Amino acid sequence: MIKKTVVITGGAGFIGSHLCERLIKEGYKVICMDNLMTGKMDNIRHLLGKTDFRFVEHNVTKYIDIAENVNYVLHFASLASPEDYLKFPIQTLKVGSLGTHNALGLAKNKKAKFMIASTSEVYGDPLIHPQPETYWGNVNPIGVRGCYDESKRFAEAITMAYHRVHKVDTHIIRIFNTYGPRMRILDGRVVPNFIYQALHNKPLTVYGLGTQTRSFCYIDDLIEGIYRVMLSKCNEPVNLGNPREFTILQLAKLLIKLTQTKSKIIYKPLPQDDPRQRKPDISKAIKLLKWKPVVNLDDGLQKTIEWFKA
Ligand code: UDP
Repeated sequence: MIKKTVVITGGAGFIGSHLCERLIKEGYKVICMDNLMTGKMDNIRHLLGKTDFRFVEHNVTKYIDIAENVNYVLHFASLASPEDYLKFPIQTLKVGSLGTHNALGLAKNKKAKFMIASTSEVYGDPLIHPQPETYWGNVNPIGVRGCYDESKRFAEAITMAYHRVHKVDTHIIRIFNTYGPRMRILDGRVVPNFIYQALHNKPLTVYGLGTQTRSFCYIDDLIEGIYRVMLSKCNEPVNLGNPREFTILQLAKLLIKLTQTKSKIIYKPLPQDDPRQRKPDISKAIKLLKWKPVVNLDDGLQKTIEWFKA
């Protein structure tokens, strides 16, 4: 049987590299594309010798040229940490807009299926809780996070336009906070930050009062959800995340317990436009994909801590 070929943009990133691995296991040929701005060769080095894996260094904001037949284009290239997109707002906007346009163009040209990795940030600082896919969001377009939120909202809009006009078979997933091995330790996001601080006996930096909430999904659960969406017939957005909600202060205390660190908690100013609460309504994914996360936070964090230690 001829193997299907998948192009994964952002394939050397945290989520992208796990996805490359999973799809090779499922019997696909994977073309991993990354410009290595936040992705790392270390994430995919173990895949480089495999016949079903090819790495292409390329910035997807430029025209994407692939000679062979392609069955799926999964567009995961993006800066995803608030620290990164605050530092590089223009690159963030370009990869979400021009990058998505090019990735859609490739899918159309190859008659391939397409998936855009969108985000819970399309809901902004949500006024509805938990957030169902039908919620349109509360985003500040000109705020500091606007570059990320609006680029992903544009990405969703152009994906639906390609679906409606060019009949490209498209999927939109809205990924909520995800964590696990291969996040960069100095990524800036809360889980690696706290683990780094705890392992180095530095104070854990809670922003604001730590009463803001997030819901943390372990990477393996997310990858399972992504794979099910990829095989589904669903063209409308699907939330993928863990619906168990924690305050950031609870997370800090849990990590202090799990790492048995001597670190204390210190409080730092809350970043501008930091969403106060976030929790996915995953009824749609449960119904449509028979999917829900199975890894609890203690276990997922423990695995992540072990990985960072190693
Ligand atoms: N946060 C924190 N301390 C840190 C890093 C982040 O208190 O060292 C908070 C941040 O203000 C936000 C939450 O943790 O409320 C999650 O932040 P993250 O950067 O992981 O991603 P976000 O969910 O905001 O996109």
